Amino acid sequence: MTRMTTIFDAILDGELPCHRVFENEHVLAFLDIGPLSRGHTLVIPKERRAQLHELSDDASAEIGRALPRIARAVLTATGATAYNVLQNNGSEAHQSVFHVHFHIIPRFDDGSGLGIGWTPGELTGGEDLAAAVARAIDDGEATR
Ligand code: AMP
Repeated sequence: MTRMTTIFDAILDGELPCHRVFENEHVLAFLDIGPLSRGHTLVIPKERRAQLHELSDDASAEIGRALPRIARAVLTATGATAYNVLQNNGSEAHQSVFHVHFHIIPRFDDGSGLGIGWTPGELTGGEDLAAAVARAIDDGEATR
């Protein structure tokens, strides 16, 4: 996917301020400007990719390493004991900033946090579908 410059580029380039909570060579985390709850934090790779499946293995590993650590810190700082991790890809999936980002969203007793509408369907054709995904992985879809 062609990637446009985003507001997170401006943050990464130091052109726009943010409330930074963590930074290393590969990852930046900062408070969301429109929080769903207190402590709502965004974790982004410094690798500039629009969507999760475009990330390199190295950038993915670094994000994976940072997420639990930042989640622990958000829990400690806010006193929350529950939280959601949300990662949107594509405008149809509610992505508005086209730079990969993970939301860490604490959930509180007052109901603040991520509201989830979840209507489970019924799994049909699971064997074929699982085989198709497994084949795509074997064919190298999962490596880059
Ligand atoms: P998404 O819908 O997953 O693309 O979420 C994008 C998030 O980025 C939203 O929760 C916004 O509130 C947040 N956001 C946009 N601009 C900024 C900014 N300058 N600083 C911090 N968070 C931002």
